[in-house]
Amino acid sequence: MRIAVIGAGIVGVTTAYELAADGHQPVVFERRNSVAAENSFANAGIVAPGYVAPWAAPGMPRRLLAQMLARHAAWRLRPGADPGAWRWLWRWWRACQPARYQEQRSAMHRLAAYSQQRLHEIRRLHRLDYERSEGYLVLLRGERDVALAMPGLELLRQMEVPAQLLDPQHCREREPHLHPDTPLSAGIAVPGDEVGNCRQFAHLLREEAQRLGARFEFGTEALAIDPDTRPILLLEARGAGSGGPGLGGPAEAVAPKRRREQFDAVVVCAAVPSLKLLEPLGMGLPLMPVHGYSLSAALRNHERGPLSAVMDERYKVVISRQGSRVRVAGGAELGGAPERHSQAVLATLYKVLHDWFPGAAQLQQVQVWKGARPMLPDGPPVIGASGAPGVWLNLGHGASGWALACGSARLLADQLNRRSPAIDAGAFLAARFARR
Ligand SMILES: Cc1cc2nc3c(=O)[nH]c(=O)nc-3n(C[C@H](O)[C@H](O)[C@H](O)COP(=O)(O)OP(=O)(O)OC[C@H]3O[C@@H](n4cnc5c(N)ncnc54)[C@H](O)[C@@H]3O)c2cc1C
Repeated sequence: MRIAVIGAGIVGVTTAYELAADGHQPVVFERRNSVAAENSFANAGIVAPGYVAPWAAPGMPRRLLAQMLARHAAWRLRPGADPGAWRWLWRWWRACQPARYQEQRSAMHRLAAYSQQRLHEIRRLHRLDYERSEGYLVLLRGERDVALAMPGLELLRQMEVPAQLLDPQHCREREPHLHPDTPLSAGIAVPGDEVGNCRQFAHLLREEAQRLGARFEFGTEALAIDPDTRPILLLEARGAGSGGPGLGGPAEAVAPKRRREQFDAVVVCAAVPSLKLLEPLGMGLPLMPVHGYSLSAALRNHERGPLSAVMDERYKVVISRQGSRVRVAGGAELGGAPERHSQAVLATLYKVLHDWFPGAAQLQQVQVWKGARPMLPDGPPVIGASGAPGVWLNLGHGASGWALACGSARLLADQLNRRSPAIDAGAFLAARFARR
């Protein structure tokens, strides 16, 4: 089948790869000039299935309110006058009930474990090298942080995730360059967790997808979908201009050309902007951008910095190794403008880096990135048929799009091929938003 894939973030690239691997001819339309140019550009890179969980969790509303005025708050709410943001918050609040949390968390965990397995198969098959390293250590600064982490640790064990509580000495053996003066009470580690460069993986997988017959059209925006058994896309090509390396604006404007093209199916993988295509079809998914930031800098000395990745549980900030660079990522803002940077969040990222790895990075040249987690209020992404003929969805992966991408793509391809998927797809249907 000739299948259009809209969006070449990590989700679109993995989707194109799986469709091509099944013998289809995917054509990927991306408005930017390369893959992974938006929200898959500089994320923390963590693949840790045990921690892939909804942000709608019991006790979260209270913790969020308590944080609102804190100087180094991990979450910031700026819904303003946007009624969509308030509706999203209402749905999110309702999804914080314990029973729904358990249900959604186990669905996300199943998908994440499956996704990691598929990631490993693809990595081995094509010998992909994407700055991968093994290990992810959650750092608990004080006894209060340890006490707060205990229910989560218990839950991991109930889900049969072999999480280990480590004393400070064992933490420092795993990550020998942690600053000795920063208080550390304990750490949590799960064997098999890993970190890798999501953007680099997307570039490598694009090449493999092309070898299998996929085609990528950059500088081309999908403007509308006409659903049908053979859906039609309205496309606008602006040519492959110089949209910059993922930090800047859209592709350079050169005499846009519009055309209509018919396909056997369309898969929408365009994160939050998918709404512009889906709303005219009567699909108002509650998808919101939850912004976050990362700082990336060269390591001053390759022997210093993290060996893989650590997460400061108190500040919800990840410090990960990406080859010869260190990346610090965190912050969660609901609402707010994508182009405006919060100096308070950036200050928290610098503080946490300095606390754990002082002097490790060359901070004269830092790449500052702000991205959006495409977040559904209850947690799991939407994967499968949209309800409109010929239109399929793979979107809404929130804080875990990299960790979930390979499994989600396989799940989508299996459904599109009318093959029974390896894991139950029921929790990922768009229809769940029609019901509630
Ligand atoms: C600070 C931060 C840290 C994170 N850390 C992690 C982590 O450690 N692990 C993890 O798993 N996840 C992490 N994430 C989340 C992860 O980055 C996202 O879930 C993931 O990148 C989403 O991928 P996507 O392909 O759905 O979206 P995107 O990467 O945004 O891709 C969508 C693409 O669609 C294109 N597009 C949109 N509309 C159109 C249109 N009409 N026509 C053509 N093209 C279109 C866009 O240009 C874009 O390239 C993090 C996110 C942030 C912000």
